[in-house]
Formats: sequence, structure tokens, C-alpha cells
Amino acid sequence: MVTVGEKKRVRGIRLSGSLNRVEISRAALRHNFRVCRQKAGQAAIMPMVKADAYGHGMLECARVFAAEGAAAFGVAEALEGAVLREAGFQHPIYVLVGVLPETIGDILQYNLTPVIVDGDILPELSKQSVINNTELGLHVKIDAGMGRQGVLPEDVSTVVSRINELPGLYLAGIMAHFPMADDVKSSNTLEVFELFQKVSDGIAGSNQVDLLMHIANSGGLFHFDATRMNMVRPGISLYGCYPEGEPHLVVEDDVQLEPAMKFTTRIIQVRTVPTGTGLGYGQTYVTSRRTRLAVLPVGYEDGYLRCLSNKAEVLIHGRRFPVVGRVSMNLTLVDITDAPSEIRQGDESILLGRQGSEIITADEIASWMGTISYEVLCLFGNLNSRYYID
Ligand SMILES: *Cc1c(COP(=O)(O)O)cnc(C)c1O
Repeated sequence: MVTVGEKKRVRGIRLSGSLNRVEISRAALRHNFRVCRQKAGQAAIMPMVKADAYGHGMLECARVFAAEGAAAFGVAEALEGAVLREAGFQHPIYVLVGVLPETIGDILQYNLTPVIVDGDILPELSKQSVINNTELGLHVKIDAGMGRQGVLPEDVSTVVSRINELPGLYLAGIMAHFPMADDVKSSNTLEVFELFQKVSDGIAGSNQVDLLMHIANSGGLFHFDATRMNMVRPGISLYGCYPEGEPHLVVEDDVQLEPAMKFTTRIIQVRTVPTGTGLGYGQTYVTSRRTRLAVLPVGYEDGYLRCLSNKAEVLIHGRRFPVVGRVSMNLTLVDITDAPSEIRQGDESILLGRQGSEIITADEIASWMGTISYEVLCLFGNLNSRYYID
């Protein structure tokens, strides 16, 4: 099966396939879910499938995770939740970034669970819930140290009282988010957790319903056991990367996460240029020898960003070769002068993933780009045709 970003969907034309392909391994997704399951203990698992599952395809990933026992799904916007419902998922679906009045209709129609980030939306939610003849369960996001979004600890009891007073609404859970759980050594995570627990204990004590409490992202799940609570919300680890970047042992018996995404292209031309040739826009690289080049039909349009110019490496025939000159919109040059084997037009080049015994990880690409694996996965996965393999 192939899914393509809207941008590259050509209506009425059967795609023979782009030269650039993103392959998603369902086996890796399953394996990573099982690793998370093992770490989660009794806690339920809510896979984060926002951003089209970090570029891996929301529906395809949700199907794999549902079959493995996912308890719920986390998305950013109501629209994503509606897409999951339309596809037949019956799980609780959490809409995490908050609610605007105009999205309440979708939330009610698709039975989504809104996460409340302040009290202002409550009267309108109550009104529409009553009109709809429903009791809408809400989760409240507490700003326990992220400093980005949510209700401040001192305001939580006011917001909770309003929820309890208003018809058509009830409090179903409370959550917060860690800002630094990828930093194993930082005391921040346990401080944030302590504050969250204090606030949530206070609310739970005064509430009739059993509340769901959740705070752990991948960092919390893998490095801070105590933070698992009722439910955990892993994202990046399900897709096979470690939140802290460098892969290292995370589970007692040597179990490693498996990267689920591979990004490949095909060499469109092989050519040789003389010593002293400036390569590409800006002539940022000048050959110091007679140079053999592999031309790749990939560029920043495909998420292979211009900041990878003169920095990145790619795999061909199981070896690493450097990107030379500027990455342009649809073309990238690779210096293959030192290749021991003959490289030809049409040969595969791996931009992300394994070939033979060599591997280029999302973390390595992220380090060349000055970013994190999350951004690399979203870029590659959401800008290219995706193919699923088992
Ligand atoms: C994205 C997100 C997560 C998942 O974080 P990872 O670091 O990818 O595991 C968890 N909780 C919230 C609120 C998020 O937005």
C-alpha cells in the first residue's frame, strides 16, 4: 500500500512511484510497541499518532498499535481524531492542543476527548454538550513545569470546580507534560512529577469519579519508572528512536528499539568532472581532484534540507559517501570517487536507514541539521510517498 502527501497526489494519474521512497516497517512498529509495553508495566498505553504518526502514517500505525493493545490514541487536533473515527477506531482519542469554539462540533460528533488548557472554553463546551444530550469527559492539562500550555497549579481547583458545576461536562482525567525527560540526569523530571502528583492528589481526593492520570512521554517511560501512573504516552520510541538521541540499552535484556522508517532514492546520473570544478548553486564546493559524482533526484522539496549541504553522508553499495555542494530543490550530489565497486545509474542510495552493515540514523541526520530525530522523521515521512512492509 502507498500513501502520499497531499502535495504529491496527482488526481487521476496512477503513480508509478516516485524515485524517492519512504519505507515503513510494520514489524519495527510492533516490536517497539512491545518494548514500550514491557516498560509500561500495568499502565495503559496511548500511542501518540499526531503529525501523521511522526511521518509514519497515522492510520497505518494506529492499526498496528491497536492490534497490539493500545488503550487510546493521542492527536494534536480534532480533525485528526475525526479521521481516526471515520476509519473505524473505537478507542478514546485525546485532542491534546486545546479546543476552539468552532471545533466543539467535531469533538461531540466524533466522541473525542478534549484536553482543556484553560477554563474559558468550559461554558461553550457545556452548552453544546447539553444540546447534544451528552456527558462529555474532559482531561485537564496542568502546566507543572513545561511553561508552554495548560492550567497553572494554583488555578486548577477553580477550573475543576467549574467543570463539576457545569451541566454536560465531567472531569475524566488530568495530565501534564515533561520538558526535560530526555535528560536522564536532570532532576527536573522528578520535580515536575512531584508537583503534578501533589496537584492531582488534591483533585482526586475531592472527585467522585476515578480519574485517569498521565504524564509520561517516551523519556518518562524509559528513564523515570515512577512516572508511569495510569497511562503512558510514548511517541518517538514507538517509531524507533530514543528521546535522548544516542541509542543505548533501555531494557534489561538487551532489547533495542528498531527504527521503523527508511528513506531511499535512486541514482539518476553518474558523471565525472575535472579538478577545480565548482559544484552546484553558490559553488560552495570545488573539486580538488578528478571527481566522480552520483547525482540523486532528492532535495529540500523532499525534506532533505539545504542545511545538509556539504555535511550529510548517504549509503551506496553499503558504504558511506559525502554530500558535496548545495542540496537544491530536487538534486543532490555525492562524491563517489573512492568507491571500490562500480556505481551505476539506477542504483539505490539510502538517505536514512540501513544498507549492509552500515546505518544512517535519524539522530545522525538530525545532528547534521542541528535538530532532533522528531523533525527529520516528520519531514521525510510527510513529504514523500510511503510504502509499508512487514
Ligand atoms: C508528543 C507528545 C508526547 C510524546 O512525546 P515523545 O517524546 O515523542 O514520546 C507525549 N505527550 C504529549 C502531550 C505530547 O504532545
